[in-house]
Amino acid sequence: MFKSEDLLGLKDAINWPYLLDVLGFQKINVKTRRCCCLLHGGDNATAFSWHKSFFHCFSCLRSGDAIELVQVVRGISFVDAVRFLADLFGFRIRSVSSSMEKHKSEAREIPQYISDRLLNQDFEKIQIEENIREIQNE
Ligand SMILES: [Zn+2]
Repeated sequence: MFKSEDLLGLKDAINWPYLLDVLGFQKINVKTRRCCCLLHGGDNATAFSWHKSFFHCFSCLRSGDAIELVQVVRGISFVDAVRFLADLFGFRIRSVSSSMEKHKSEAREIPQYISDRLLNQDFEKIQIEENIREIQNE
């Protein structure tokens, strides 16, 4: 189990264009934050988008954070995906070692982390919807 504050720090440190390039995403447009989606394999260069710590695909409607993306693209576990990202961005992730600490941190931090994440996800969807409206109104 990793320290949840380190996981949040890692997600904030994600350089999306670099990560997407390493994972093999094509036609990455840094300005519009769009590219082709490797998850469903389409060639629509505006299907996949990212914002802060989340991604969303407008074609296959998959969304999540960088850890989930690495898990799906590479077919690896959560732990391996965290290690992959930590190595890629030179980020140090501390493990919660003793079972006592693990229990304490899970009891205290994980529900908060999950509720933050859900709030964030709603926020991200609203942001993306607003972006679409702006684009349509231009
Ligand atoms: Zn997709």
